[in-house]
Amino acid sequence: MYLKKIFSIIILAGIFPVLLLSCNGSNSGKSDNSGTGSGSEDISASDVSSTAPPTASPQPTEEVYTPKKYFTLSFDDGITQDSRIIEILKKYDMYCATFNINTGLCGASWDWVAGAVGCPGLTHIRFTEKELKSGIYDGFEVAVHTLTHPSLTDLSDSAVISEVGDDAKNIKKICGTAPVGMAYPGGNYYNDHIIRLILENTDIRYARTVTSTGKFTLPEYFMEWNPTCSFTEGNAKLLLKKLLRKECTEDMLFYVWCHGYELDAYDKWDEFEEFIKAVSEAEDIVKVTNGEFYQLFKDKIPSWKE
Ligand SMILES: [Zn+2]
Repeated sequence: MYLKKIFSIIILAGIFPVLLLSCNGSNSGKSDNSGTGSGSEDISASDVSSTAPPTASPQPTEEVYTPKKYFTLSFDDGITQDSRIIEILKKYDMYCATFNINTGLCGASWDWVAGAVGCPGLTHIRFTEKELKSGIYDGFEVAVHTLTHPSLTDLSDSAVISEVGDDAKNIKKICGTAPVGMAYPGGNYYNDHIIRLILENTDIRYARTVTSTGKFTLPEYFMEWNPTCSFTEGNAKLLLKKLLRKECTEDMLFYVWCHGYELDAYDKWDEFEEFIKAVSEAEDIVKVTNGEFYQLFKDKIPSWKE
């Protein structure tokens, strides 16, 4: 009898923890692999990690590089039409634009532009410093377009450094962020000497040209960053269709630039909005500012020749 009682205690002692564990599991109201039950967390966690199927715990995939399709925009001169551009970009959550501004010309009105493009009444008015400080470009990248928009190839070395470097300093002071890039003013007025001056004397590390490639290739050098097209060339929509059809076997970049006044001059606002909407809906396209793209690729693409 005594032995039978001892035997019963031994059996109960063996079963009781099992019952406890079982109650704990059922009290938690969660499945065995939840790993969140109190009291048995250590047991459950180790148990789950050793028994979970491989798909339940994905491993980091940094070893496998997946090429992507990138899209970026830039607009030159820092003029009042940029407000309407920003309104459209914000409507479609497209913060992938860079605005290249001339801080030595704040508030200037270039009346001659209307005549130059044959569009009477067209305005080309730069934002004032006060307007810039009000946060017009918040959420977007602001980059250098030089202080006063000269042809850099006409300037002395010190003037080139001042036009680029002082514009960058002003942008930092007015907009709060130090720029890393620029767009050459007035067209392709740059050369090897100017690029080296800029790299050696300022923090500017990328510069956009006005040479359209019509392609989605990445720049060879960031200081000679040729865009895919200007929006006013009229082929942006077709190029987008082409990009969407392409198989992504290597990184691709669709770079569109423009001046806000051109959208007025050539009545392209509806076309522009339609294009922005279409890009925003393309889920496999990564939208970045020029500066964000530079940061992503600065270790792969040099700013200039060694
Ligand atoms: Zn310009």
